[in-house]
Amino acid sequence: MSLQTKLPRVGTTIFTVMSQLAAEHGAVNLGQGFPDFPVPQRLVDELDKAMRAGHNQYPPMHGVAPLRQAIAGKVLRCYGAHVNPDTEITVTSGATEALFNAIHAVVRPGEEVIVLDPAYDSYEPAIDLAGAKAVHVALDPQTFAVDWDKVRAAITPKTRLIMVNSPHNPSGAMLGKADLEALTKLLEGTDIFLISDEVYEHIVFDGRVHESILRWPELAKRAFVVSSFGKTYHCTGWKIGYAIAPPALTAEFRKVHQYNTFTSFGPAQYAFAAMLEAEPEHDEELGAFYQAKRDRFREQLLGTKLKPLPVPGGYFQLVDYSAISDLPDIEFVKWLTIEHGVTAIPLSPFYETPPAGQRLARLCFAKNAATLDAAIERLVKL
Ligand code: PMP
Ligand code: GLN
Repeated sequence: MSLQTKLPRVGTTIFTVMSQLAAEHGAVNLGQGFPDFPVPQRLVDELDKAMRAGHNQYPPMHGVAPLRQAIAGKVLRCYGAHVNPDTEITVTSGATEALFNAIHAVVRPGEEVIVLDPAYDSYEPAIDLAGAKAVHVALDPQTFAVDWDKVRAAITPKTRLIMVNSPHNPSGAMLGKADLEALTKLLEGTDIFLISDEVYEHIVFDGRVHESILRWPELAKRAFVVSSFGKTYHCTGWKIGYAIAPPALTAEFRKVHQYNTFTSFGPAQYAFAAMLEAEPEHDEELGAFYQAKRDRFREQLLGTKLKPLPVPGGYFQLVDYSAISDLPDIEFVKWLTIEHGVTAIPLSPFYETPPAGQRLARLCFAKNAATLDAAIERLVKL
């Protein structure tokens, strides 16, 4: 029996590859993005309570009602958006599932999806499995800003969807008002849908405003807004996310969700509902929490030959390593792990065509001070 792969370009993700290499070599792992500090105690208590209360069977397909109501409350508080928890919010197994469902809900074989490189690695395989084609438009290699003229030029009659991500992984760049205005103009009068990946929505710095698509009704009417509790509550392993979309889009989204996962881990849904109700200030305080980590880490990096790029949002610090090495980025991060005991993520796997000569690596600062100190102790020796 011959098996022809449906995803010839997919191997093991760079996150897994680098985490394994870090473990093998006892390196400080600033690669794969996950916090190494505990989740809020209340969340653990609420999870425990939910399981003991017997919430251990299939939750409703769309997510438990208290959580969908809490999400509606949150987006009203944060973005002034009125969304209906029954017809516009679906809870998913992480943002990854939400992204997959949204793509499959609207994209048909032969159609095109515009993605902005460097793009999060789960987008393209989901597009490929839908029989569609990812059309890559590169962000500015220094600032990671979107060139909307380039996006416009990439639109064809086959374009069904555009995917944006702000704050952006890996760069931390954020879309501003002017971007959203340009995007609104670009999509006016078209049948193009939008996926907005906003998993780092609450991790924003220096008083900047997260321009959620939910603030932009003209865009929201054609959009799936995707987020994840993993980033907001330091629990990437719980894999609970959600998608917000207008009723007609949500109906199609739920058809995919129904036969993809049907529903997601119930006790965690009750725990997040309770947490959102009891500590709504948690998401408002998250920016300051991470900004302190960012600032301390950047200060420490000044003592190394790595040059830190600006970080408007998210929990990743890009560094230019050209003063240390001229190795291409994948070779550089492997060398750094094996020879110097610090693990980073290269950028080239997130591009169709990596910019020539780009010498950047991504370091995750969602870590305890001791972890970052241990990494810096090794990096200053380079
Ligand atoms: N989108 C982006 C930009 C991400 O960085 C991540 C995970 N780090 C995801 C989606 C996936 O989120 P989840 O773990 O909730 O599936
Ligand atoms: N999103 C995480 C990151 O960017 C990794 C998720 C994963 O390992 N699949 O580091």
